[in-house]
Amino acid sequence: MTCETFRQWFLDHESDEMTDAIRAHLADCEKCQQIIALDQTLEQKLHNSFEQLEVPARLQERLDQNMRGSTRWLRKSGRLRQIAAPALAIAAMLIFFLFPLASEKGSFASMDTVGQLAISDHLSHGTKGCTSSALLDLESYSLRELGYAVKPPTVPEGAKLLAAAKCQLGDCDTLHLMYSLAGKAFSVFVFPEDEADFKLAAGRSYSLDFGNHQVTLWQTGEQIQAMVI
Ligand SMILES: [Zn+2]
Ligand SMILES: [Zn+2]
Repeated sequence: MTCETFRQWFLDHESDEMTDAIRAHLADCEKCQQIIALDQTLEQKLHNSFEQLEVPARLQERLDQNMRGSTRWLRKSGRLRQIAAPALAIAAMLIFFLFPLASEKGSFASMDTVGQLAISDHLSHGTKGCTSSALLDLESYSLRELGYAVKPPTVPEGAKLLAAAKCQLGDCDTLHLMYSLAGKAFSVFVFPEDEADFKLAAGRSYSLDFGNHQVTLWQTGEQIQAMVI
């Protein structure tokens, strides 16, 4: 059993009875012991408390967000709408232990999100903020503008790089490269892989059809590249 499985059990379980697997994990995991200890203290404080305070809005928000789908905690968080100050501190600590990764999220939830934003920028970009390819040393340009070096992407043969710009897709700064091939314009957008909440398999490319446009995504090193044709 892993800590992840334990947390899942903790959030979902209906009775306080532990399975052997839970007990075995608890016996040698200090972090999960702490969760149990905090939970018991919280129960106690809730039972003993008589001085009631409003739960701060931000904590309530986190409770509501994080506890969705976990029945036992939903019930508890209902009770937490009115809570004594010591119990509040313990609840906040419990949440910290239970949802250590809840905060960090990338800018792109899915490949579809990237595709839609990329097409819309591709169609509306014009010439704003562009550096022409004649003046362009791509690696030092991207390092200066975005904080990471981008190597020239692999594009269809005969394609000519016209210009580059730093371009925002949603919340994310990307490198926008503009090409022409046989008189037709296409774009490649480059951004760090941790901006994506999805994974691309190494050496694979993924094509999405959006009516008149096609978006192809692939990963190069720690960067994701999205080509709009
Ligand atoms: Zn654990
Ligand atoms: Zn752009």
